[in-house]
Amino acid sequence: MSEIICIHCGEDCGKYPVVWDDKPFCCEGCKTVYQILNENKLGGYYNIYENPGIKVDLQDFGGKYAYLDKEEIKEKLVYFTEGEYSKTKLYIPDIHCSSCIWLLENLYMLNTSITQSMVNFVKKEVDITFKNTEISLREIVELLASIHYIPMINLQSITGEKNKSENKKLIYKLGIAGFVFGNTMLLSMPEYIPGEVSAEFR
Ligand SMILES: [Zn+2]
Ligand SMILES: [Zn+2]
Repeated sequence: MSEIICIHCGEDCGKYPVVWDDKPFCCEGCKTVYQILNENKLGGYYNIYENPGIKVDLQDFGGKYAYLDKEEIKEKLVYFTEGEYSKTKLYIPDIHCSSCIWLLENLYMLNTSITQSMVNFVKKEVDITFKNTEISLREIVELLASIHYIPMINLQSITGEKNKSENKKLIYKLGIAGFVFGNTMLLSMPEYIPGEVSAEFR
């Protein structure tokens, strides 16, 4: 069986390509970028910068994300607010290629109330600055979910504090491992030293 190539980026689509308009894509990012470029008859990326405000078909999630309107949840997820600007950081496991990054870093095209967005590819996080008078955290999450980048909001991200101490524990453990390894090296050193000196240690 030959592999299926993504029509947008040329990567292998794997077993389950995302299909749109009978064309295969490797991910939602590639599909959405392709859609945006085609449906809006924009010749290239450059034109998009000039024409923000592209329409996304928002899915109706009902009350699924209603909890994001709760103050105590917002407090945990919105880590900075100054006047009408707020910042949130969301974990999106589906970030997987440069199309994903490009799309998520240009969210203002989809909603101009999102003023800035930056992706940390390694952590699969997107850092979003938004006008809190125009768009809510819930609406941001619903927008992302509509373009199939579903943020994983769970106890892990809400109880971030606890997570940090877990990480510290891990780092501590690694530190000990490093220490032990270092010592093993020292103890084995004579083995590597050629000649009579090493013989004395045997
Ligand atoms: Zn692709
Ligand atoms: Zn991608």
